[in-house]
Amino acid sequence: MRVERGSDRWFAPAVGLVLVGAGVVVGALLAGTAGAAGGGLAGVAGGLALWRGLGGRSARRRSLLAVPFPARWRAFLLDKYDHYDRLPRDLRRRFEDDVRIFMAETRITGIEARVTDELRLLVAASAVTLSVAWPDYEWDQLAEVLLYRRNFDRDYSFESEELSGQAHAWGTVILSIPALEESFADPDDAYHVGIHEFAHLLEVDQTRFSGIPPGLPAARRQEWVELMDREMERLRRGKSVIDDYGARDPAEFLAVAVEAFFESALALRRRHREVYAILSEYFRQDPAAWDDARGLKL
Ligand SMILES: [Zn+2]
Repeated sequence: MRVERGSDRWFAPAVGLVLVGAGVVVGALLAGTAGAAGGGLAGVAGGLALWRGLGGRSARRRSLLAVPFPARWRAFLLDKYDHYDRLPRDLRRRFEDDVRIFMAETRITGIEARVTDELRLLVAASAVTLSVAWPDYEWDQLAEVLLYRRNFDRDYSFESEELSGQAHAWGTVILSIPALEESFADPDDAYHVGIHEFAHLLEVDQTRFSGIPPGLPAARRQEWVELMDREMERLRRGKSVIDDYGARDPAEFLAVAVEAFFESALALRRRHREVYAILSEYFRQDPAAWDDARGLKL
């Protein structure tokens, strides 16, 4: 995420120009030359208001990041989150910035639960893990995060504990609080409900959940599809470090492969080298190399 989004630079002037044009035409139709001038002025005013609005967001982000990252939050992340701990210095700084922007701009609502700063940090850390090395990524497709007090069933009640999380096509992510906390507590079991659901959300502005990482270069897409076929077969034979839940369909395969990429990086690199290589190129992150650097072994 950037303080000033790339689109901010052209969006307001472009919409302003359209407003001025529309103002002139409508004004001219209603009241001739005087109307055209009045309409044009109204268009200029509209464009300026939009510019100020977008500038306001940049200003809010700038002041948010002007103060140092809270020491309490840093200590919490170091204690709870292994991936944050191993990030190289420049990415860790970006992680802290993105976490703050995400927390400030994302609606996170508790369902029969109180949402603490710590929980909001865990939600933000889950999402930002995926996007930290993509400076222009904004999670625009995310509408709201709902935190449920425990696992839930398909009717969204707490009668049975079927589900620990869900990502909806309209941009809502549901996470069960105990499952989210457990995901962070055990850093290398390849289970992470936050990473899993936000990995689904990457696909939300696609026409369907295809299991192909969105934005993957064309040359890699075919490679990924063939690889996914082979890997899903391997899951069915039970010979994989990727969770066998991924054998259900391509979208689930992608989500559990992303969990394994961040949670079992060394094992994935050793036993599923091609999956690791494509995800590493895709996320522009190399968690297994960072584990090597801190002396971790399989
Ligand atoms: Zn899933």
